Amino acid sequence: MTSVFTRIIEREIPADVVYEDEQVIAFRDIAPRAPVHLLVVPKSPDYADVVELAAGDPALLAHLVATADALAREHTGGDFRLVFNTGEGAGQTVFHVHAHLLGSRAGMTEESLGEL
Ligand code: AMP
Repeated sequence: MTSVFTRIIEREIPADVVYEDEQVIAFRDIAPRAPVHLLVVPKSPDYADVVELAAGDPALLAHLVATADALAREHTGGDFRLVFNTGEGAGQTVFHVHAHLLGSRAGMTEESLGEL
């Protein structure tokens, strides 16, 4: 089944896109849990979670992480959290691999992580 993220990539539904290249797209989470809450998403629909991505295309995972780092320098001042919910029991709701990039220019503490 087509994921909501594929529909965003195909521009079938709107999103606040902050970055895009041939391999990944990044947009603001619709229900932010931090002052900066971006989703960094490989365009390929082939990987349901980060374990599949790491096994199937480690270079794409590395590109996703490098993209998150570049976006954090732009949006949070540099430091960030990268969260990959993996499995329903961990709160994953969209089975098209994505990283939650969380941060704040004011800094974050353990307490400010929030529920994902
Ligand atoms: P997860 O629960 O880890 O699978 O994360 C899915 C995330 O996608 C949640 O944080 C949702 O708020 C977010 N989300 C779902 N639909 C949209 C959408 N149309 N635009 C932006 N973010 C979305």
